[in-house]
Amino acid sequence: MSPKVVIIGGGVAGLSAGIYSALNGFDTEILEMHSVAGGQCTAWERKNFHFDYCLHWLVGTSKGAFHDIWKETNVLNDQTEVIDHEIHSKIVDRYGREFIIYSNIDRWEKYLLEISPEDSSPIRRMCKDMRKSALIEPFTLPPELRSPLEYVRLLPKMFPLLVVVKKFGRMTCREYFEKLNFKSEKIRSALYSMYEEVNFSALGFIFMLGWFNQKNAGYIKGGSYPLAQRMVERFVNLGGKISYGKKVEKIIVENNKAKGVILTDGIHIPADFVVSAADGYSTIYKMLDGKYSSRKFDHAYKNWALFNPLVQVSFGINQSIKSDIPIVLNLCKGTTIGRTILNSGYSVMNYSYDITMAPEGKTSIVLRYESPWKLWENLDGEEYKKEKEQIRKDAVACLEKIYPGITDSIEVIDVATPKTDVKFTGVKEGSYEGFMLSKENMMKSLKMYLPKLQNFYMAGQWLVPGGGLPPSAQTGKWAVQLICKKSKRKFRAK
Ligand SMILES: Cc1cc2nc3c(=O)[nH]c(=O)nc-3n(C[C@H](O)[C@H](O)[C@H](O)COP(=O)(O)OP(=O)(O)OC[C@H]3O[C@@H](n4cnc5c(N)ncnc54)[C@H](O)[C@@H]3O)c2cc1C
Repeated sequence: MSPKVVIIGGGVAGLSAGIYSALNGFDTEILEMHSVAGGQCTAWERKNFHFDYCLHWLVGTSKGAFHDIWKETNVLNDQTEVIDHEIHSKIVDRYGREFIIYSNIDRWEKYLLEISPEDSSPIRRMCKDMRKSALIEPFTLPPELRSPLEYVRLLPKMFPLLVVVKKFGRMTCREYFEKLNFKSEKIRSALYSMYEEVNFSALGFIFMLGWFNQKNAGYIKGGSYPLAQRMVERFVNLGGKISYGKKVEKIIVENNKAKGVILTDGIHIPADFVVSAADGYSTIYKMLDGKYSSRKFDHAYKNWALFNPLVQVSFGINQSIKSDIPIVLNLCKGTTIGRTILNSGYSVMNYSYDITMAPEGKTSIVLRYESPWKLWENLDGEEYKKEKEQIRKDAVACLEKIYPGITDSIEVIDVATPKTDVKFTGVKEGSYEGFMLSKENMMKSLKMYLPKLQNFYMAGQWLVPGGGLPPSAQTGKWAVQLICKKSKRKFRAK
């Protein structure tokens, strides 16, 4: 009989772990508490409109170690269509002045130089830093399985990048922009407004545009839900079992060895290996009662900042409104939507570039803004309903400013709050990408296992600050590589 691997959570990390586990001959079961797989990588239907929650860009759409994972897990196949947007995003200030961020660095550099020739030196320096970030190559193996040779192989290639990491690794975006010292008010205010969150790492910004410049962070037509479904299909075709509506309450431990899980309905499921791809905090401090934590985990969960949760208002519009720009950030710091005072503004995403998102002749538009968890944690019942109603009204007013007259064409409005995210995925405090990438944790990650607990591994966004789909899927693969090593099986990815 094959050893049994039980995976907690059917998000992208759990599905990835499931695929590689089944591929390597383990008897594999994924336990997912929701009625669908995908976790944060999800979408929903309302009156034939398709409202996407997650996918804007997927690092690895054209090459590299992440690309291999997307192919191996059926996220990318011969039928998938990748869209590389020419414009990454647009920022519009409260006076209607526009600032564009192009995906191509040469094009962006030219645009910035046109805006402010006197800033030629900092513009060229910033774009040069971004181009260097193209040299980054994700590791293929988990740290425990890397030989010194792998580091030796990569180091010379990545040397110029290491210089960037050394220079800016401990800097926030704000500090980086201050150091560049742009004279142009337009450039300064646009860049600052993108990162109102004071802690966000400068490298996060530099790397992001580096990926786009290589056309290696495209959008996949169809968005998040079909992406997750393609992974489910691959998993099931490999003989894996996925069970929905199964919430794990505890991990069974005997003699410091994980032996299975207990569901909230009391059912015990025995296993030889347990992989938790669920929310990291719940795994360590609830399912295992904090007994196997370490100083590093305690430090991270106590001190590292989380991403601010989001409110998403989705609109089904009964007319065709075209846009090639995937994200428009509308600055209006201090404006309120419901009880949230906006930190910088709200984003509007018109999905007309993807025909699968709305019936013909109609448009799906999403409005999204950050809203601190403290506003939501104790909001229930009638108060919660009232808040959603207020958000609906305020969001329509915001949309009306961008598309005057649109109110009459609104067919559907759907409001998803941080509480919605917590309810359906269990994510801590609605932090949809886990730990925020800050100067404190940049280039750091957490271990995939716990000291003193055998046959137990973790995968998912909580292990890698900044989160996102690529590290989630990658840690799923790595967990199985570690299980194969422990079981003395040769790991295979195909
Ligand atoms: C609005 C938004 C936009 C985003 N945009 C992008 C983007 O463009 N590109 C990108 O790369 N990333 C993006 N992300 C981030 C990305 O979606 C996440 O980082 C990634 O999906 C996390 O995957 P995960 O499997 O680690 O965790 P999750 O998706 O949180 O999955 C955890 C799963 O475990 C299940 N679970 C939890 N507890 C239990 C339990 N006790 N028992 C059983 N099951 C349980 C949950 O239901 C869930 O399915 C975005 C996220 C959001 C919300």
